[in-house]
Amino acid sequence: MTATPDAALVLFSGGQDSTVCLAWALSRFARVETVGFDYGQRHAVELQVREPIRQKLAGLRAEWAARLGEDHVIKLDALAAMSETALTRDMQIEIAANGLPTTFVPGRNLIFFTFAGALAYRRGIGALVAGMCETDYSGYPDCRDTTIQTLGRALSLGMDRTFAVHTPLMWIDKAGTFAMALEIGGQPLLDVLVEDTHSCYLGDRTHRHDWGYGCGKCPACELRSGGFARFMTARERTK
Ligand code: ZN
Repeated sequence: MTATPDAALVLFSGGQDSTVCLAWALSRFARVETVGFDYGQRHAVELQVREPIRQKLAGLRAEWAARLGEDHVIKLDALAAMSETALTRDMQIEIAANGLPTTFVPGRNLIFFTFAGALAYRRGIGALVAGMCETDYSGYPDCRDTTIQTLGRALSLGMDRTFAVHTPLMWIDKAGTFAMALEIGGQPLLDVLVEDTHSCYLGDRTHRHDWGYGCGKCPACELRSGGFARFMTARERTK
């Protein structure tokens, strides 16, 4: 079986970035499948919001419903076992001595992409879509464009199959991500982003803000609330 360039596999966590990527893929590819990773993350609530978000996006446009294919969840217990970080253990989220936040799971995206590549191979899918971003990425080296594109080449070589790796959010910030959502799916998609997607590292779904649910204090909440505020200010200005 050869890989179809018309089919995409979206690395879909249930967060706002990967949800925008899913909408981006649905507006471009004939068939779109999703993959999520269960690695013992402390914010496992992410995994629970994935299916409702998929259903809501399918409900936004008949075309998207027709294109949305299977969802896959890959359990990566080994990643949880080998990672001693704030996302998987009950540990303070802060900047560690190496200059990286303690939320950094070493090599996480490399592992995700490799599993996604293997899955895409099996499903005959030629495009991988993911929400990595260099602009406000907290310094994660595995979110850098060079890392992701080089890995894409390695996967293509290692599986003798051409994979196109798309990272539509790479060069925009969180405000830009909200703006892109508005452009792709209008206010209904923006509503899904705010109401249904999850970013908070602490898994807080009890505190509702204008930018969505979260503790409001962790780095993920700070990025999201700051980005939403800048987006809304820019939106007001252009009205
Ligand atoms: Zn939070």
